[in-house]
Amino acid sequence: MMKMEGKVSLVTGSSRGIGRATAIALAEAGCDVVVNYHSNENAAVEVVERVKELGRRAIAIKADVGDAKQTNDMVDQALDAFGKVQILVNNAGITRDRSFMKLSADQWREVLLVNLDGAFNLTSKLLPQMVEGEWGRIINMSSIVAQMGNFGQSNYAVAKGGLIAFTKSLAREVARKGVTVNAIAPGFIRTDMTAAVPDKAIEMVKQLTPMGRLGEPEEVARAVRFLASPQASFITGQVINVNGGMYM
Ligand code: NAP
Repeated sequence: MMKMEGKVSLVTGSSRGIGRATAIALAEAGCDVVVNYHSNENAAVEVVERVKELGRRAIAIKADVGDAKQTNDMVDQALDAFGKVQILVNNAGITRDRSFMKLSADQWREVLLVNLDGAFNLTSKLLPQMVEGEWGRIINMSSIVAQMGNFGQSNYAVAKGGLIAFTKSLAREVARKGVTVNAIAPGFIRTDMTAAVPDKAIEMVKQLTPMGRLGEPEEVARAVRFLASPQASFITGQVINVNGGMYM
């Protein structure tokens, strides 16, 4: 098992899906976890309980990552509770799918606000203390949609593509300060987000995926945990694809 005892992590959107699996995977490796959620308090509390069962500290904090004020308050609470946050996983994300000609300005903006501004809000608040501590890990949850595009997801593709560009630029800026910045680009993963996708579209995804199936949240979480670990010390500015071979 990776040695990450005593490292403090904050995973946005960790009440459900990939974020939840990531919080648990990091706790298994020895990390304390700040569990962030937007509205589903019961689910967040359940994740906190799981982390505590693994012998680690955890707290749940409600905050909309797209809201700078709420994000700042969350970071203050997290630092009050744990003193530092060395691992940041910018995972919270939403979709508002519409073909471009039907897409409203609000749907465009909302997706950018949560998926992209959310990463800005958290990173800008947490980076200074990582630099000061000369150790940090930032992992941004992008998507295969940034790499391939997708019908009905121009807003989402832009946000996720922005995260890859952000990852590479920030990685260059902080590489000599002990902080690595990487992105994960999952393919289609079995969560509430893809449960909303019509069966016919899921069948098509399976056909286009060499492994012939969707991924599990834990399969993404293990990649996040690796990037967060000391073992990934010479990896920065990279996009790790966890997609069953759908995009190579
Ligand atoms: P999910 O099952 O829909 O879970 C979303 C999580 O994000 C929940 O914990 C939710 O909190 C939280 N969240 C939503 N809006 C938020 C906000 N404004 N502020 C804070 N938290 C918020 O999603 P998922 O499938 O696990 O996806 C996780 C990430 O992976 C997203 O960035 C997504 O774009 C990306 N991704 C997913 C797939 C896939 O196939 N599933 C593929 C590629 C990339 P509540 O429980 O409180 O609502």
